[in-house]
Amino acid sequence: MDNCIFCKIAAKQIPSSIVYEDDELLAFKDINPAAPVHLLVIPKIHLDTLSSAQAEHQAVLGKMLALAPKLASDHGCAPIQQADGRYNGGYKTLINTGADGGQEVYHLHMHVIGGSQPWRGQR
Ligand code: 5GP
Ligand code: ZN
Repeated sequence: MDNCIFCKIAAKQIPSSIVYEDDELLAFKDINPAAPVHLLVIPKIHLDTLSSAQAEHQAVLGKMLALAPKLASDHGCAPIQQADGRYNGGYKTLINTGADGGQEVYHLHMHVIGGSQPWRGQR
């Protein structure tokens, strides 16, 4: 898609800090991180919003979600259960959809945000 910044990142036409790549997905560091770990996971195909996803996209959507635990583990923010049963660490996965959803870049992306608790108590 012309003039889509995340398509350009996927095509390596503009630089990003890539942390994961396969045939269908790319994950890279958010340029304006909201927490110590702030990654974005995108499908390489252009979908403007989550609401444009069709049945044929179920597999790639599943892959995006399934990648989050690996990224969190790689970046030191996987949840860890303590001996008392409570959990430390952890991260948030977030897909903003449309204007009222707070979406700014119209290429589907999932945030993986961890390493601190900037959202705790807010959502
Ligand atoms: P949204 O509000 O659309 O869910 O989030 C878009 C995110 O993309 C924001 O957190 C923003 O910092 C990030 N972002 C926007 N432009 C770029 C860019 O050129 N490179 C990278 N790495 N992140 C970007
Ligand atoms: Zn795009």
